Amino acid sequence: MPSLYDLSWPELERFVESAGGPRYRARQVWEWAYHRFVASYDEMTNVPVALRARLSEELPFPDLHVVTEITADDNLTRKRLIRLADGKLIETVLMLYDPRSDSRGRATVCVSSQAGCAMGCVFCATGQAGFERNLTSGEIIGQIIGFARSQAQSGGHALTNVVFMGMGEPMANYRNVWRAVETLNNPAGMRMAARHITISTVGLVPGIRRLADESLQVGLAVSLHAPDEPLRERLIPTAHRFPLPDIIAACRDYIAKTHRRVTFEYCLMAGVNDSVEQSRALADLLHGMICHVNIIPVNPTADASIRRPDRARTLAFQRTLASRGVPCTVRVEKGVEISAACGQLRGDTQSIAVAQTAR
Ligand code: SAH
Ligand code: SF4
Repeated sequence: MPSLYDLSWPELERFVESAGGPRYRARQVWEWAYHRFVASYDEMTNVPVALRARLSEELPFPDLHVVTEITADDNLTRKRLIRLADGKLIETVLMLYDPRSDSRGRATVCVSSQAGCAMGCVFCATGQAGFERNLTSGEIIGQIIGFARSQAQSGGHALTNVVFMGMGEPMANYRNVWRAVETLNNPAGMRMAARHITISTVGLVPGIRRLADESLQVGLAVSLHAPDEPLRERLIPTAHRFPLPDIIAACRDYIAKTHRRVTFEYCLMAGVNDSVEQSRALADLLHGMICHVNIIPVNPTADASIRRPDRARTLAFQRTLASRGVPCTVRVEKGVEISAACGQLRGDTQSIAVAQTAR
């Protein structure tokens, strides 16, 4: 059964009409759901009781049970372990930015698009745990509303950004991800500017091409991790499906079509992909593109042989790239102590238990 968050605006209008109500009731319901973040139909006091009863029977709120929430970075990073209706576990992270160091006061939610992930990246805890299933758009929206609600209740900063950088490969669940994006962006929905939404992909070329044709200008991030095909295939076992030259060609077309900058993510691993030669090769690969490279020193996962390089080596990699005209930054990490940092989301209680004993 679909949930309220699964329905698009016209679909909800049709539902309301079929239930005998006037269309404008759909707007009222959306306002309660997406502007006021209510958790049940009971709170929608201007909607007739009979319609509320029908809605809660046929279009319930999705069942996203917060099993635990743990915090880090002085409460600026919060990770939730969420149990879905069928028992699958996912994780969602809220990242607040200290207003003292960031005057814009952003509040970013990092959402999961799948339970698990089929891509198998060797450095990623989610990839190592394997694939379970796609999330519905309602389950994606539900992760965001959950944090929007608690921020509203605690008087915290309203959500400003959403990044699809949690568990899963969003381009492998394109339909549901896009449906969620449309609801997020809809003025009657969460009213989030498209440019404040970023989809990160490990390089699924059809997804990149499809995104280039969408009218909503969401951000695209592409996880590269290697400047050459053999190394990339070692790090991402499924990478042979979309070879590096095809990914780069799709990104160049994307830029030509949209005039938007692409972000490349490069997870830096000591002795694997962090040499100055590799930095040069990466600069050659990205030559002339409107882009930005996010260098992410790898976060620790179960595989102890994958480590981040030291600071000097990280900066040498960055300097080489920058000196060849490629804009790049080393990502400031958040949430490492609670395993909420990139690639550490695994959707099991184990990481939570470890984080709790460590506190
Ligand atoms: N599947 C998509 C989006 C989710 S992963 C993708 O791969 O892009 C989000 C980001 O976390 C990716 O850039 C990924 O490379 C990064 N990541 C994965 N494991 C990591 C780790 N152990 N340390 C740092 N970043 C990691
Ligand atoms: Fe999947 Fe992204 Fe993790 Fe790779 S890095 S396994 S694509 S979630």
